[in-house]
Amino acid sequence: MSRFWSQHVAGLVPYVPGEQPKIANLLKLNTNEHPYGPSPRALEVIRSGADEALRLYPDPESTALRQAVARRYGIDAAQVLPGNGSDEVLAHVFNALFRHEGRALYMPDITYSFYKTYCKLYDIPVSLVPLAEDFSLCPDDYIGLAEKPAGIIFANPNAPTGLALALDEIERIAVANSDVAVVVDEAYVDFGAESAIALIERCPNIVVIHTLSKSRALAGMRVGYAVGSKEIIEGLIRVKDSFNSYPLDRLAQAAAVASIDDQEYFLEATQKVINAREFLTKQLEAIGFDVLPSKANFVFARHPRHDAAELAAALREAGILVRHFSAPRISQFLRITVGTRDECARLCHTLSELTIKTS
Ligand SMILES: *Cc1c(COP(=O)(O)O)cnc(C)c1O
Repeated sequence: MSRFWSQHVAGLVPYVPGEQPKIANLLKLNTNEHPYGPSPRALEVIRSGADEALRLYPDPESTALRQAVARRYGIDAAQVLPGNGSDEVLAHVFNALFRHEGRALYMPDITYSFYKTYCKLYDIPVSLVPLAEDFSLCPDDYIGLAEKPAGIIFANPNAPTGLALALDEIERIAVANSDVAVVVDEAYVDFGAESAIALIERCPNIVVIHTLSKSRALAGMRVGYAVGSKEIIEGLIRVKDSFNSYPLDRLAQAAAVASIDDQEYFLEATQKVINAREFLTKQLEAIGFDVLPSKANFVFARHPRHDAAELAAALREAGILVRHFSAPRISQFLRITVGTRDECARLCHTLSELTIKTS
């Protein structure tokens, strides 16, 4: 604790992102980046947008981007709040919707670990709801809660398990908690789950969070957005405009619009990742891994006879990065990003050598 710090800084528990090392020939399967790159049209507008106009501030409201999202989902632009990556949007969501004196935020015990970091930052008590033995989320665990929650948040598909909930299950949770925000983080939804945006008209307490970092392959641009009822989005905008008026630069706004409008490239690239995921799953099972049924661009897998941390370290020696979390219940799993088919094959080849050598 430094004497210069504000009091609460000592108690923060910062999120630790997957590493981004600068090693040649490294196969990076640790942060769920997309193997095929962004839409060529997005790259084109970034190139052509690098001109004199950069002396001017960007549109503080990201109007064109909000309209592109609205067109894509058949909603109103006033229902969209973009931000500098969905992590920033999530920070505003926690600040604007979950700070209710004496009430706890409900979330699964295993989910995106950044949620707990925001709870520390904003001093929000947490109530962890254990996932079932098979890591599925049971909607009944969020229905008829004894105490009114500050809100509910989960990722769908969940991270790092990859398991998805059906829309009717999400709707049951939202209907049973109609007085509080139910936030569905859909970072991976495009790889095989259904978006809860379809429920917002019936359930105005649902807030959906999207990112362009995963299925749109624009992690380096930092663009995400929230979709919700106008009432909720208005609250998020108040917080955003009390924090940073210009969270998205000109190039990011233009690239995001071009990417969202290029549906053809998106569908093709997404399908390639889904096909590679099914290939990777079969290959891993052939080596003896148990693989959870993933609807995301990663798989979560454990080997019954090999320690996950040791496997991750051995892979790293071989120039392949995967993610290992030393958290309770999941410390024997590896989270492996789906790469190209060739990258998946290289990983499995290395893994089969490692598992044969040490069995
Ligand atoms: C990757 C990820 C995010 C963060 O996305 P950014 O838009 O890159 O900040 C948010 N939630 C989940 C569950 C993620 O996996």
